[in-house]
Amino acid sequence: MKRIALPCGESVPALGQGTWHVGDDPSRRQEEIATLQHGIALGLALVDTAEMYGDGRSEQLVGEALAGRRDQVFLVSKVYPHHASRQAMRRACEASLRRLRVEAIDLYLLHWPGAVPLAETVQAFEALQGAGKIRHWGISNFDLEGMQALWRTPGGPAAQTNQVLYHLGERGIEWDLRPRLGERRLPVMAYSPFDEGRLLKNRALVAFARRHGSTPAQVALAWLLAQDGVIAIPKTGSRARVEENAGALARPLSAAQLEELGRHFPAPQGPTPLSMI
Ligand code: NDP
Repeated sequence: MKRIALPCGESVPALGQGTWHVGDDPSRRQEEIATLQHGIALGLALVDTAEMYGDGRSEQLVGEALAGRRDQVFLVSKVYPHHASRQAMRRACEASLRRLRVEAIDLYLLHWPGAVPLAETVQAFEALQGAGKIRHWGISNFDLEGMQALWRTPGGPAAQTNQVLYHLGERGIEWDLRPRLGERRLPVMAYSPFDEGRLLKNRALVAFARRHGSTPAQVALAWLLAQDGVIAIPKTGSRARVEENAGALARPLSAAQLEELGRHFPAPQGPTPLSMI
């Protein structure tokens, strides 16, 4: 498994598993748990969730899937911006820990920028770290301006990742955000790597995958895995698909293939506002 170094020096799998909407449909629950467990066994041992997902249902399901496997997984969860003050974050984190049935979250992210001053949010993260409830913290959906504000905040440079929308069809961050993060060796965690499934129907991608004996999902992931300092967190509730997605690791793209993909999915030609889902 390719691994990505966090600024703290620890490394995490470059390919993980997302869990938005996991746990929403009780009839799919057992398959979703088995899928996460199978993904972990295949090396997709970074699991991303959030207090927001299904109002805690995703964290609950993740907690069930991790039973007996906690030490194999790098666990990421997220706090709502309106819980980003010192008191509210402590309560939110404790509720997440209960749902996840773990002692500590490995990486706790601010889900998107909100109204609580960044200095207070950083202090809240530091307090949770001091209490052993989280090991690292980071942010999500921060554009370059947001990152610069964070880096100016006392303690802000300790953030370990910025989780943002990034996939073949959405390359805007390559203009300025990704290079600036790269200068600080801060990895991008690419969410919605399939554009929630829409990208996989793209005709150019489907044709490319067919020509190269791969699948659209594998090409979309192999393209992200070819980027420097990028972690991808595809979501699936199906064992067959998690196997297919893990197969991207064995199908790296050549320089010529990356160039061909770049013609169908061009890099940005100028600054682009950060897209969010
Ligand atoms: P993805 O881009 O990962 O796409 C998920 C969709 O693709 C699902 O419908 C899934 O269906 C389908 N799919 C998965 N694998 C395959 C495959 N091999 N072939 C065909 N279809 C496939 O979308 P998400 O929005 O879920 O993003 C991934 C994760 O990123 C989230 O789950 C969440 O953890 C995180 N995220 C974070 C955000 C943030 O603001 N920080 C915002 C959005 C996402 P099925 O499950 O039926 O297989």
